Amino acid sequence: MNDYEFRRLRQRAIERDMTDVCRDLGIELSTRGRWRVCRCPNLEHEDRHPSCRVNVNTNRFRCFSCDAHGNNIDLVLMARRCSYNEAVRFITGENVELKNVQDAPPDTTPAMANLLDIQWLHELVSPRDYYQCLSPWAKDFLSKRRIDPNIINTKGIVSIDRPVATQRTKRKSSKGHLYTPTFPAPSLLFPYRDENDIIINLQARLDKPDVNQQRFHFPPGCHTSLWNPHDALKLPDGSDLWLCEGVSDAMALMTSGRPALAIASATSLTQEASDFIAQQSTRLRLHIYPDNDAPGQRLYQQLLGISSSIRRHCIPDGIKDFGEAWAKGVIESRSPA
Ligand SMILES: [Zn+2]
Repeated sequence: MNDYEFRRLRQRAIERDMTDVCRDLGIELSTRGRWRVCRCPNLEHEDRHPSCRVNVNTNRFRCFSCDAHGNNIDLVLMARRCSYNEAVRFITGENVELKNVQDAPPDTTPAMANLLDIQWLHELVSPRDYYQCLSPWAKDFLSKRRIDPNIINTKGIVSIDRPVATQRTKRKSSKGHLYTPTFPAPSLLFPYRDENDIIINLQARLDKPDVNQQRFHFPPGCHTSLWNPHDALKLPDGSDLWLCEGVSDAMALMTSGRPALAIASATSLTQEASDFIAQQSTRLRLHIYPDNDAPGQRLYQQLLGISSSIRRHCIPDGIKDFGEAWAKGVIESRSPA
């Protein structure tokens, strides 16, 4: 099984009807409106009076007592205390044997997916109480920027205090030396998910980069362009969508009540990402607050080339981007329509 097949299987596991998964787990559900109510699957929570609800619309569960929550895989991980692969196998009935990166046949042209140790990336951001698990510096970082903690939980963002390998095996540098690529630290790790909400990459955002260090880091050899396309696809026709540069701005926009789609950086707009944006522009109203710098203006011009109807909003003078404007409270929240 290669990475692509694994992700397809994982997606099937997530999309299976949660009420069926509960039945397979022996969890009894009773009905209350669009909810199904059951005792909490968290084995550490002795839940005598059912406090867990399964939302049949979103296919997710949440315990209103201990706040355990998640998708089918999270549910099975919790109820069976098994490995990730075992959970996927339990739900789909199919064997999961992810090939190790070093087992890949040597002479094939590696697609981007093969350059990445996706399973390892999954483990780095495996389900947890994301916000509670953040390091104090990360919570401080987010609160200074007025970012809603719920976004950390729903987007599965984690913090690392020490450099972490980006894959389990060593890589060869361009000079032929073996080395272990790492995400630098202290950093936030942003999961990048595809249109089906499946993790395809991680990006580290270094908290305080040195002068000669970059702030953002993808694993070597790959560049992923869009963050949050899945949420964009879920928006009904005619909705507003804000495009922005980088995940920090997207989190600020989302906190302010503006659905957001981030482009990883001003220079990372791929053809695939352009096509996605062009497609969305036929059904959504696109907006942008271009960054107050040259790359931000260039990105705006580039996006205009993709969709001439994109609406431009201005960041007040002296402020570099939406994130800063939001942190300083100079842009209002958007009240839900
Ligand atoms: Zn619970």
